[in-house]
Amino acid sequence: MSNQPHATCTCLSRLTQARLAPSCGAKTRRCTPCAGPAMLNGRCRMHGGKAKGQTTPAGRERSRAARLVHGLRAAEARQAARERGAARREMAALSALLRELEDLEEGSASP
Ligand SMILES: [Zn+2]
Repeated sequence: MSNQPHATCTCLSRLTQARLAPSCGAKTRRCTPCAGPAMLNGRCRMHGGKAKGQTTPAGRERSRAARLVHGLRAAEARQAARERGAARREMAALSALLRELEDLEEGSASP
């Protein structure tokens, strides 16, 4: 323990210190730079300063797949989408066939 003060007075009020903090700078709805105090990632609490992104491996993969629009691995994603569409169309055709079959059975049973 020492008898020295913990910190020297910087002669700046709390408000002055807050004004000197780096600002966010994101574009606001009024097209002006945001003046909110920036957090560690450079943005204020309203513009993603609190966001840490996906933390789980599954979440990261989901985010990566959702953002994939074009690029080296886009062919894989487009092929997967094509296969999903084909499977969906096949399911629709099969259920239509099933409905038709049920209608035929009802038609043959009632008269
Ligand atoms: Zn901001």
